[in-house]
Amino acid sequence: MLPAQSGIYCIEHADSGRVYVGSALNMRGRVELHIRLLSAGNHHSPILQRSWVKYGSDAFDIYVLEIVPDHNRLSTAEQMWIDRLQAVGKNGFNIMPTASRHGSGKGTPASPKYRQRCCNECGQPYQPGRADQFFCVRKCRMDFENRMMTRGRELYSLFMVMRYERGVARMRGVWAIACRLAQGWREEDERERDGRQSWIPAKRALAKFPVTMTVADVYVKQEKFGRAGVR
Ligand SMILES: [Zn+2]
Repeated sequence: MLPAQSGIYCIEHADSGRVYVGSALNMRGRVELHIRLLSAGNHHSPILQRSWVKYGSDAFDIYVLEIVPDHNRLSTAEQMWIDRLQAVGKNGFNIMPTASRHGSGKGTPASPKYRQRCCNECGQPYQPGRADQFFCVRKCRMDFENRMMTRGRELYSLFMVMRYERGVARMRGVWAIACRLAQGWREEDERERDGRQSWIPAKRALAKFPVTMTVADVYVKQEKFGRAGVR
């Protein structure tokens, strides 16, 4: 098992020496994610996925290439290793050359409409086909949404208690409980998702749920006419 440290790792097909090079703030978490995606047949690199299916997980060695404590150096170090081990091209499994280099393979559009982004779920770079695409594959979107649903289920009752059983909520410190829950989830994100945000950012969340617009309107009225209306 890899250390839960920041650095560059390698997934190598032992017989051919063909490699996949990746970087992560938490290499252990990232490699576990690769393995989950590969086992589910959902990995973003089709060539690595095919080899994994063909040869089986035992045919691959996974190891650390370099520990990189300085997060700002991660992508430079990753590029250095990709070049050194020729991880893009016929010796490698990496499909995405870095933003500065183009034309590695077939299927890469000559002039992509949208800039490359990192998937909100797995963190891997991908080429979005739409402005509002935030995940590399459907599986990643489902994982993201399922996590929100599972976590939300825990919060829903706490919130309703705070809103409609105020006495109990105050007495039992429900707000503090909710905050501790949130903190636990944030720490889990730090640990297992390289700190990637696991909720929809405010701007998009507000656009997604029109009801919040109404609440915002009400809030404006409250400010104007005193707090009598909404309590
Ligand atoms: Zn993804």
